[in-house]
Amino acid sequence: MQKFSIWSLLRNSVSYHEGWQKQWRSPEPKREYDVVVVGAGGHGLATAYYLAKEHGLRNVAVVERGWLGGGNTARNTTIVRSNYLWDEATQLYEKSMKLWEGLSQDINYNVMFSQRGVMNLGHSLQDMRDIQRRVNANRLNGVDAEVLSPQQIQEMLPFINLGSRYPVLGASFQRRAGVARHDAVAWGFARAADAHGVDILQNCEVKGIRREGGAVVGLDTARGFIRARKVAIVAAGHSSVLAEMAGFRLPLESHPLQALVSEPLKPIFPTVVMSNAIHAYISQSDKGDLVIGAGIDQYAGYGQRGSYHVIEGTLQAIVELFPLFSRVRMNRQWGGIVDVSPDACPIIGLTPVKGLYINCGWGTGGFKATPGSGWAMAYTVAQDRPHPLNEAFSLDRFYNGHLIDEHGAAAVAH
Ligand SMILES: Cc1cc2nc3c(=O)[nH]c(=O)nc-3n(C[C@H](O)[C@H](O)[C@H](O)COP(=O)(O)OP(=O)(O)OC[C@H]3O[C@@H](n4cnc5c(N)ncnc54)[C@H](O)[C@@H]3O)c2cc1C
Repeated sequence: MQKFSIWSLLRNSVSYHEGWQKQWRSPEPKREYDVVVVGAGGHGLATAYYLAKEHGLRNVAVVERGWLGGGNTARNTTIVRSNYLWDEATQLYEKSMKLWEGLSQDINYNVMFSQRGVMNLGHSLQDMRDIQRRVNANRLNGVDAEVLSPQQIQEMLPFINLGSRYPVLGASFQRRAGVARHDAVAWGFARAADAHGVDILQNCEVKGIRREGGAVVGLDTARGFIRARKVAIVAAGHSSVLAEMAGFRLPLESHPLQALVSEPLKPIFPTVVMSNAIHAYISQSDKGDLVIGAGIDQYAGYGQRGSYHVIEGTLQAIVELFPLFSRVRMNRQWGGIVDVSPDACPIIGLTPVKGLYINCGWGTGGFKATPGSGWAMAYTVAQDRPHPLNEAFSLDRFYNGHLIDEHGAAAVAH
């Protein structure tokens, strides 16, 4: 594989950049694979990459019904943080954060991980008590976290309106948190997985999951039957549809979640601001657009668009917090289908079908977990048992009641 570096950039510039290799192959499906991953979003591609890199599995395919990285991976607002409340969640997200910190070097692809900090605003005394509790819990878990006063917030964002209808009483702040470039994450993992021999099969929708004697044997796809010893479902909003093909049910609801971007502005917004109370979050992309996320639509559905009143409410909240933006024009709006679990935590583990594994339930907040999720899922598939990091996130918890309630830290989409 061609290596990206300053030297290869210089070398290629003399030939008008016509000598770059394709970033990944488009192979024909083989008849049989050791592992087939369903879903070429960031999580599926990361799973395939770590299966090859960490576990030496080379006969691996990723099947994708559309184009790679066209699902929620390409539709999210790219916030990366690890300041969850409970130990199990914090450790899983923190594993991911550590992988983010070395990811561009590891996969030799600039994922533009920018640790510009993430702020969670508190608008009431109860918000502030919750913030203090979470910051303490984070520190006990070795995760950086601090409480900001309104004055500290204003120093960072001089144009914030602290005295709006929802007064800003303070915020939690994780300095190592930030944003990454979502497309680059999908492309980088795809390129790195392909370099390890993983076949990425696009336009290859899974239409059926074949089982024999309670074990998975292969997949009926738009490109024919593909035999597989193991299958990993990593399909976000469509996970329940795939589970149904395999004869079991998931405790998930699929909801539309929206985001929108403004026209590009000069650099003005140096961090990421989230507010659970007013259901809005905002950052600025490297291109200059304000990237704004809304709350989820309350109805379940698979249409990749959302209700108008949700984004209208979001923009009202943003303008109240940042009146300066009242005349900025919005450029584009879109929706994705998020897979919401009852405790706002993911499901990563084995299923009732032998050889079939599931990774889903990331809901509104799985982008930040992309490398960690792929890493833990690869271990689970390769070893046929969960890694200690994802043991608590198995399907069993919905039977034995060991839920990990992260509604407080997840709350609004993020
Ligand atoms: C508007 C919005 C904002 C968000 N903001 C954030 C944020 O700021 N931070 C954060 O951490 N998270 C955020 N999220 C959540 C995050 O995007 C997701 O949790 C994460 O991207 C899920 O990644 P994935 O790889 O599992 O899913 P996806 O990228 O959706 O990949 C799943 C893939 O499976 C494919 N698939 C489905 N069915 C089949 C089939 N039958 N056969 C073959 N392939 C199939 C799909 O086409 C898709 O490409 C946001 C989500 C949305 C929608």
